[in-house]
Formats: sequence, C-alpha cells, structure tokens
Amino acid sequence: MRTGAPARVLLVTGTLLAVVGLGTGLLPHEPLLTDGPDLHWALLAGLFLLGDQVGLHVELRRRTLIFQLTEVQMLVGLALVPLPELLLARVLAGLVHNLIKRRSAVKVVGNVALHSAEVVTAATLLHLVDPAVALTGAWAWLVAPAVLVVTIVVGHVALTSLASAHVGARQLDRESFVALAPFLACVVAEALVALLVLELLDTPAACAALVVLGAAFGTYHRAVTRQRGRFAQLQLLSHFTEALVGQVETDEVVATVLEQTAEVLRSDRSELLLVGDAEGPARWVRHTPLGGPVVQEGPPPQDHPALVLVRRHEAAVLVTRRSDVAGRALLAELGARNAVVAPLRRGSTVAGALVVADRSDRMLDFTSHDRELAESLAAAATVALDKGRLFDRVRQEAAVREHQVLHDALTGLPNRALLTRHLQSALREGEVGVLLLDLDRFQDVNDSLGHDVGDRLLLKVAARLRDRLAPRFAGGGGWLSRLGGDEFAVVLPGLAEADLLTEAQAVLGVFDEAFPLGDTALVVRASIGAACRAHSSQPGRLLQFAEIAMYDAKRRGGGCSAYLAGDEDVARRRLELVGALRRAVEASQLTVAYQPKVDLATGRPVGVEALVRWTSPDHGIVGPDEFVPLAEQSGLVGALTTLVLDTALERAASWARAGRDLTVAVNISPRGLADGSLLSAVPLLLERHGVAPDRLVLELTEGTVMSDPAVSVEVLERLAALGVGLSIDDFGTGYSSLAYLKRLPVHEVKIDRAFVMGMAGDGDDAAIVRSTVHLAHDLGLTVVAEGVEDAVAYAGLQALGCDVAQGYLLSRPLTADDLETWLDSWPGHGHALLGAPPQRQPV
Ligand code: C2E
Ligand code: CA
Ligand code: CA
Repeated sequence: MRTGAPARVLLVTGTLLAVVGLGTGLLPHEPLLTDGPDLHWALLAGLFLLGDQVGLHVELRRRTLIFQLTEVQMLVGLALVPLPELLLARVLAGLVHNLIKRRSAVKVVGNVALHSAEVVTAATLLHLVDPAVALTGAWAWLVAPAVLVVTIVVGHVALTSLASAHVGARQLDRESFVALAPFLACVVAEALVALLVLELLDTPAACAALVVLGAAFGTYHRAVTRQRGRFAQLQLLSHFTEALVGQVETDEVVATVLEQTAEVLRSDRSELLLVGDAEGPARWVRHTPLGGPVVQEGPPPQDHPALVLVRRHEAAVLVTRRSDVAGRALLAELGARNAVVAPLRRGSTVAGALVVADRSDRMLDFTSHDRELAESLAAAATVALDKGRLFDRVRQEAAVREHQVLHDALTGLPNRALLTRHLQSALREGEVGVLLLDLDRFQDVNDSLGHDVGDRLLLKVAARLRDRLAPRFAGGGGWLSRLGGDEFAVVLPGLAEADLLTEAQAVLGVFDEAFPLGDTALVVRASIGAACRAHSSQPGRLLQFAEIAMYDAKRRGGGCSAYLAGDEDVARRRLELVGALRRAVEASQLTVAYQPKVDLATGRPVGVEALVRWTSPDHGIVGPDEFVPLAEQSGLVGALTTLVLDTALERAASWARAGRDLTVAVNISPRGLADGSLLSAVPLLLERHGVAPDRLVLELTEGTVMSDPAVSVEVLERLAALGVGLSIDDFGTGYSSLAYLKRLPVHEVKIDRAFVMGMAGDGDDAAIVRSTVHLAHDLGLTVVAEGVEDAVAYAGLQALGCDVAQGYLLSRPLTADDLETWLDSWPGHGHALLGAPPQRQPV
C-alpha cells in the first residue's frame, strides 16, 4: 500500500459497511431454520475465532494459500442464529483475530467490513433461493455450495473492480479467477460440512464424532504441513547452496546469492551489503526485479540501517512498520512495506547484511520462518563469499606471480621468457628483426660507482630506450625487454635484413647524450648485435645469433654489427676457448716468450718484452690476439697478468743473478688497469723475486689509458711511485696527443709496428715516426720502435735518433732458454747482421 492506498481502503470499507447496513435493515432477523436447535452467538463467535486462527495452509505452485475455515460457521450461523447475533459473533471473532495478529487499524476495519458483507450477501442469496430448499433436503447439497460460491465470486468482483477503478490495482481478469479457484473448492467443501452438521444436529453423538473427526484432521494437517514446510525449507536451502557450489568468483557469488535469496524468500528484491576489510573490498549490490545485480554507488555507509540492525540484534531480524527507528529507516530506504535482514558473520564480527524486501505475492508478509530461512541463507552466503574471496586472492596472486615471472624486477620490462613468447608469435607472422644491446664496460660502473648507481643507470637506459622506441612500436609493433644484467633486446616485426644496421644505429642514438646521475653525468656506450628471420625462425637461435653479432661488435670496439652466416662457428669456438683458457690459467699452463730489444745507439740488448703463449690440448697454439680479448671478456685477465708478471719477474731475477742487465716489459690490458689487483700484485711479486722496480716496465695501450682517464691517472701515479717504468704501447693508433701523455707519469712510448713496418714505403708513416721521435724526445721520453723487420728500417730509426728497436730483424719472441742462447751469441751475430754500432760522440 503506497500512494492513494488510504483513499482506496476508505472507499472499499465504506462500500462494504453500506452493504452491511442496508442488508441488516432490509433482511429478516430470524434464523433461517425456524425449527433448528438454539446456538448461542458467543459459542459461534468462538468457533469463528477458531477458524480464523487455525486456517488451512496449503502450498500451491510455490505460494502458500491460507484457507480460513469460517464458511461452515457462517452457514450454520445463518441457519440457527438471528442475523444481528451472527454479525456480532463474526465481527467480534474478526476483531480478536486481527488484534492477535497485530494488524493495523485500517486493516482491522477493512477485514471486519469484508466478513460482515460476506454474511449479508450469503443471507440475501439464501433468502432469494428459499432457505428451506437451500439448507435442508436433497437440493441443499447443490444449492448451499452454489450460494457460497456465488457469494465469494460476487465479493471478489465487487472488491476487485472497486479497487482497480481507483488506483489501478489488479485488474479483474481471467487470471484473477483462476487464482480464486482453490478458495472456491474449499468453500464448496465447507458448505457440505455445514450441511452435514445441520443434518446431524439432532444426534449429538454423531455431531461429537464429527467434531472429533474435524479436530483429528486439523491436527494431522498441521503436522503434515509443518513437516512439509521444514522439508521445503531444507529443499530451498540445499537448492540455494547447490546454486552457489559452481560459483567461484566473488562477483558471481554475489549475483547468485542475491538472485537465490530473492527466489527462496519469494521476493523480487534483495540486497547485499559487505563491509570491507583487509581480506576484501566493501560491496553494496542490489538485485532488482528488472534483472541482474545493480552495484550501488560506493561502499555501504557504516551506519546503513541494515548494518545497524544486524549489529544490534546479531541475528536475522523481521522488519515491519512497527519496528524500531533503524527498522523504519531501513523500510524507508528500501521503499518497502516489510523486510528481513540477516547478518553475514565472519568469526565474531558482522561482516555485512543480506536484505530481502517485500514478498512478491503481496498477499503475505514475511514470517518468522522466513527470518530463520534468511539466517541460514546468510550463513551459506558467507561461506560462499569467503570461498569467493579466497579464489579472488589466489587469482590475484597468480596474476602478480605471472607478471613477476614474465617481467624484470628492476625495470618492469618484459624479461627473456616473455620476449621469447612475443618473438615466437612475431616469427609466425612474418619478417622480424632482433636487436641485442649490451652496455660497454658496465661492470666498471658497478665496480667503481657501486651497484646502486649501476641500477639507476640501467633504469635510465631502459627509460630512454622505451621513449626512443615508442613511436617505432606505435607504427609497426614491437617489444623492448631486459634480458638480464646490462643486456636489452628489441624485437621489431617487419624488420628485414637490409635494414638491420640502420635500425640498430638509430637505437644506438640513445647513447649520444650522457646519462645524468645525481650531480654527475655518465657517458655510456653500447654495442648492438642484430639478426633477423632470414637467419633463423627459432626464437632461441635468433637471440643467440643477435648475441654473437653483439660480441662481434664489442670485439671491434663497440657500435653495431649484424649477424653473418658462419658467425656461429666463431662464437662456438670462442665459448670453447674461454672454458679451456680458464682451465689453463688455473693450472698455470700459459707460458711466456721473450722478445729482445736492442739499443739503437750501441746495438746492445737492453731488455725484453714478455709475450704470453698458450698451446691448448684441444685447440693447439692459440695466439694472444685471440685469447687475450677473451680473457678480458670473461674476467680472466687479472689472473693472466699476474701469471705473466710472476713468470717474467722470476726470469728477470735469474738474469740479474747471471749478470745480465735487462729490463722486462709486461703488457697490461685495458681491464687489467682498472682491476685493482694490479696495484697489489706488482710490489708483492717484485719483492718475492727480489727484482728492482726499475727493471720492470708495464706496457699500456693508449686506449687503456684513455678509456677512463680519471682512474688510469691515479693507478699510473701509484705504479710510478713504486719505481716501475711505464710505456705507452701501440703509440699512434689512438687519438691521444703527446702533450696529453706528458701529464702522465710515463717514461717511454712504443711506436706501433704498423708505422715502423711502413716506414720504408709510405712517406706518411716515416713522417709520423720522425715527428713522434722528435716530440717524445722533447718531452723527455724514451722511444721504442717495434716491428723492425729489416736493416733498412733499423738504419732509418738509427738516423732518426730512435732509442730502442724490437722486431723480427733482431729476433722473434723466444723461450727463456732460447733467449739465453740468443743473448750469448748476439754480440758477434748482431755485428754481422747490423754492422758495427756507431761510435758515440763523447758529450
Ligand atoms: P704487442 O704488445 O704490440 O706485442 C708485440 C707483438 O708484435 C707480438 O705479437 C710480437 O710477436 C709481434 N712482433 C714483434 N716483432 C715483430 C715484427 O718485426 N713484425 C711483426 N709483424 N710482428 C712483430 P704477439 O706475441 O702475437 O702478441 C700480440 C699482442 O698480444 C701483443 O701486442 C699484446 O697486445 C698482446 N699480448 C701478448 N702478450 C700479452 C700479455 O702477456 N698480456 C697482455 N695483456 N697482452 C699480451
Ligand atoms: Ca706490447
Ligand atoms: Ca705493440
């Protein structure tokens, strides 16, 4: 009952009362059977009340029909009691019944008017037919039921049309009559019982038997109904939990709980309020008759009346207009006449509320049975929701784990596994190129500036690569990934072999600018190896090829390199060599050869250069040009240098003991200088072998010194402070100027053999050698020429005033024993080879 309802009730009630008044005025007041026994109206009132109260509950097509068994009393009353007394009995019983049921005043008046009107209508019909025929004799068995049926139908028609005329309530249609049918059947039965009672009134024993029979039937029916009710309830509950079994996701569970609750409690509307906690978010979802759950705005307010109610009662609550403030607030909020609210409990706390509002059939309000049912449903719903939340969490964690498994923790970029997947699908589509990028000397950043700075640098590099590649990816797709360490990979669909280097070069542009880190900026270089589908259509192989190309680029001093068929064999050999080299270094299987150096002025041997040699059991003789860079890349170079130093100094000591005055030069590779171990190894080994520091010369290339000037200068100064000689090897191949070298504590330059060997033919080489000798001398540096292969070069160098010569003309690198032999034979042999050394002019 909503808007307009009071007006309708007033109208209907008024009409009914008018009918009653009119009927009572016009109809005769005597009982219809003049010769019947007396029946006191009070007894009749009691029987009416019994009928009202007991009622016959019949479950029909998921609706409960309540037959109030009062037609027997009415018919018997019409037959035996004066009309006003009958009305009095009916009204009194109705009042008491409605009071017990705590119905509202409007409803009480309405009901009483309805009952009275029914009595008056039936009385009128009986008078019209002839009471004697209707209540006694053979025809009565037909007429009495017919009269009652007509009474009910008339009442129905009148009531429904009155109501629908006004507020558009239910129309008087076929359906409404179908709904009436069960009541009519009941009324017919009652009419027959009433006739039986009238028939048997003269025989009190039979009458008593009838009453006993009726009572027995009533008791049996109640028991059966209750049993069936419980069974039905269990069935509903199991149906409810069954519906929830298959649901695992919280959203599904919520939807099912709402739908099922509405269905089980025969209401169109249900609502679920969940208070959020650490385990799951707050939710507020409403199921509406129009279908589907509707998510309410935001989480439910903490003081939502439904939550207030369940918190206060800690049990399911039946809410009606007569409930407390919170109850009424809930009804107002729902716009409902009545509702049931049940708590969702988690442990001892109330985690939410399940609400159903208004029965769909409107005939009946919720009962205490519904409340119990709601309580059970809420308990089952809590279990299902907990399960749902667990599932959600597992799924979330799985998603997080999946992300972790496929992404790099530092940069968040896809890792090798994910990249391989992408690459695989791209390879299936068509042309695709892979660029493998590796930072140059990243280990040095980690070693000298710390891993924090290293990580920050990697993040910056990743960000720049991402920015640089974003437009490229937007155009044709593609993925950037960090494979680990300082290695990144880019997959570019559609990239063909011809464009590999152009694309790689473009990516390398990222390193043109320094990377700002705190108050400094790091200049970083990288090498890129590129490969494409033409090389292999297997992701693993393709990445491997790109890596081979990348190492090739590194070997050539950085930049880009594309994979060439056959590179793979080279790469495999390199891998094998690294393994073999490691074993050789560990077992001290490397040997040292010595190449003598001769003073160009006197022709006397002044020193030797120690050159490492390796004969591998598997690979035979491997040249230092091949394995020294490998030692650098695989972190073996420190051990290698120490080994050579140790061997060479041991020799130097024995030569000194034999009275041979020779320096020994040892090559230090770029990594060897940055590696702090050199600084500690040199004094230790000098000491161990008892060699004077000035007998040792360390040869460093320009590149070694220039690659990290700040570090180099410091190390060089400390080495020089030990008294060790420092020589710049391969001079002329780099970019450094002598002016710069002057600032370093070096005492010697070695002109690269390429210039020396080219001296005879190439005018440029001769000019370079000449100017180097002059400039170096101006700066107070000794000049050594290496690669002296013939007497012409030797003489030319002599003429230029170069200090020392080294080369095949004098000797190839020799074993220590062969060197002894060479030294012993040299004065005469050398004389024959080079002619007598020029006489020095006394100064
Ligand atoms: P390098 O330091 O420039 O060594 C001189 C190289 O020139 C040696 O080659 C030597 O055999 C070669 N050579 C000497 N005289 C002549 C000549 O008249 N004509 C020609 N064509 N070549 C001549 P080797 O021994 O093969 O060494 C090559 C490079 O390997 C060395 O170049 C050096 O950079 C590196 N290396 C050799 N031993 C060591 C070592 O113990 N430690 C380190 N770090 N590097 C080494
Ligand atoms: Ca050298
Ligand atoms: Ca050299």
